[in-house]
Amino acid sequence: MKKLYTHENRLIIYNLKNVLQHAGIASQVINEYASGGVGDLATFDTWPELWVSNNDQFDQAESILRNIVAAHSGQEWYCRGCQEKNGAAFELCWNCGRVSE
Ligand SMILES: [Zn+2]
Repeated sequence: MKKLYTHENRLIIYNLKNVLQHAGIASQVINEYASGGVGDLATFDTWPELWVSNNDQFDQAESILRNIVAAHSGQEWYCRGCQEKNGAAFELCWNCGRVSE
């Protein structure tokens, strides 16, 4: 097993896991429940991690990940709340604070 990716939002981790599964790559989520089980310590260490089960498939998984990240960066998005345009780096609308969808 090799660690592919970690993110504070486990929905993103599961999203990626699904994508890998469709590509025939088995993966496992580690630390899935950790962020709720350590009191107020929501540190980087407790973020859910996505591990590729088969080391032979790691390179393939990594290139899929890279494509996904590339698709979600460098692209502006429009807020669904106020229709304002936001930069790719922002997860919240600068105008009304709504989360990017
Ligand atoms: Zn907005």
